[in-house]
Amino acid sequence: MKWRTTIITVGLICAAAAGIALWVIHARPVGHWLEIHTGTVNEPGPYYGFWSGFGSDLTEFAVIGTIATGVYQLVRKYNCHYPGCWRVGNHPAAGGQFSLCYIHHPDYQGKKPTHELIQRLHREHLERQAALLGGFHEIREHLADKPADANGVSGPGAPTAPADSSGNTQAGRGRWK
Ligand SMILES: [Zn+2]
Repeated sequence: MKWRTTIITVGLICAAAAGIALWVIHARPVGHWLEIHTGTVNEPGPYYGFWSGFGSDLTEFAVIGTIATGVYQLVRKYNCHYPGCWRVGNHPAAGGQFSLCYIHHPDYQGKKPTHELIQRLHREHLERQAALLGGFHEIREHLADKPADANGVSGPGAPTAPADSSGNTQAGRGRWK
């Protein structure tokens, strides 16, 4: 992203420089106009003041512009993904798809994470991990048993079988796929 912008900028500057060079070489009357207006000849002319004053700062503006662009890119990378939010977003949401500030992260409900919230979320995370591991273990056990009792009778139905057999508690929340 940053490199593309740099290449385009350099390209435009080169094109502009080439254009000006051709103009000066091939169009003498216009070139004369340019010489006056850039302060090359007729030094006490009306444009001398511009080039020795404000005009001499133009390169500094370009440098400031480059720095501003860099800062903008950095901010874009680290700020909260919520539309119009300029806080630093270092809390991942939806498995890392979003970086959100504590105000916009759904788990924190607009408040700074408290000690209790951190404890609770950590516990929930551990429970989820354990449940997930338990589920995988159950499936693996079941698949290992499968060839013994049902000799390939229902191949595609096998992965959903553990949810059916492991309990009626999950029936209300839908099948595990
Ligand atoms: Zn935010």
